[in-house]
Parts: sequence; structure tokens; C-alpha cells
Amino acid sequence: MTALVVATTNQGKLREIRELLAGLPIEVRTLADYPAVTTPEETGSTFAENAREKALYYAAATGTMTVAEDSGLEVDAMGGAPGVQSARFGGEQSTYPEKFALIYDALERAGAATSSARFVCALAVADANEVLFEARGTVEGEIAPEPRGDGGFGYDPIFYYPPFRCTLAEAGDRKSTVSHRGAAFRQLRDWLERTLNVKG
Ligand code: IMP
Repeated sequence: MTALVVATTNQGKLREIRELLAGLPIEVRTLADYPAVTTPEETGSTFAENAREKALYYAAATGTMTVAEDSGLEVDAMGGAPGVQSARFGGEQSTYPEKFALIYDALERAGAATSSARFVCALAVADANEVLFEARGTVEGEIAPEPRGDGGFGYDPIFYYPPFRCTLAEAGDRKSTVSHRGAAFRQLRDWLERTLNVKG
């Protein structure tokens, strides 16, 4: 069976990705299967660049086909921030409530009650020093007036999704049907089915 390393240590992402690849005849591995492999620094200035760099690095380090993704939140009233800095916004150690407070402060300074925003996910698959496949998914929404919900992870409590009339932290299982990661990984699923000539 073909093995695919999903190169993330973020448990929230891993849970969603496992669901999105469920039923395919591939052996999904994680970085926990490669404890000796170290984490590279993220140096790219775009989600796609970071995804490619991580996929190439982990494919070489594990000797196995690897999918890596880079994702984050773009807030329009903040010029697209926190963007590729989403995980580190406010400092490596800052909590999500602290990150939310920084966003509400920035909106207040911009004189905006809310802002349009999107989650972006870029993914890349690499094997043996070659990028084999790339995809991008987005979901459009707005910054909620206050954090709501305890599902999902990261910025989900402040991401209001108008079609559901709730935040993605309140959306439950419906999140992956509309999310940036869902959109990108469904393209990966199609590619795997075509390339491996399998149907999940
Ligand atoms: P990365 O691990 O460098 O790709 O950072 C991604 C960061 O973007 C995460 O740690 C979250 O802060 C944020 N993020 C990405 N996807 C989501 C999502 O689906 N919900 C909430 N926050 C997300």
C-alpha cells in the first residue's frame, strides 16, 4: 500500500486531514512515526512557498511521499495579516485569546467594527526532491464581534461564516465541508485517486 506522510504536528489540522483522506487505500503516516526528524524553520513569504519547502524537506527526511500544508487567516482591514504568521502572531507563546485581542485592537485602530477575512490553505506533495502536486483552498467570512464556540481550533472562534450564521468553532462537522483545508485536501484526494488509480 502506498504510504503518505502528513507533515504536521498540529493536532487540530491532523484530525481534519485524517477525515478528509479517510477510506483511501493509502497508509497515512504522521511525523510521530519519524521521531528523529527535526522541524525546519518556515522562511517562505507565501503559503504556497512554505508548503513546498516543508513537503520537500520532509519527503527527503522520511524517504516517503509527503504532503505538507501551510495555512492561516488573512484579515482584510489588517492588510492580510496575520497571514503566514498566523501561528506565531503576537509571539510564539501567545495564546489564542491573546491573538484574538490583538486582532480586535487592530480593527478598533482601523476604525472598523468588523472585517472581511479568509482562511487560506496551500498544500504540496513531494517525493524524492520533486514537487508532484499543489493545491489551494480558501473560505471567505468575517471577523465575529466576539469569540464564540469551542469546536475546531486556532482562529475558528472569531471566524464568522455567514452561510452558517455562526463561527467555524460552532459549525461542528460542517466545518470541513466548507473549509479551506477541506477544499485543498479534496483536490489532493482526487489527485491520489487518479494517480494511484484507486477509488476511496
Ligand atoms: P502553520 O502551522 O504555520 O500552517 O500555521 C497555521 C496557523 O493558522 C494555525 O496554527 C492557526 O493559527 C491558523 N489556522 C490555520 N487553519 C485554521 C483553521 O482551520 N482554523 C483556525 N485557525 C487556523
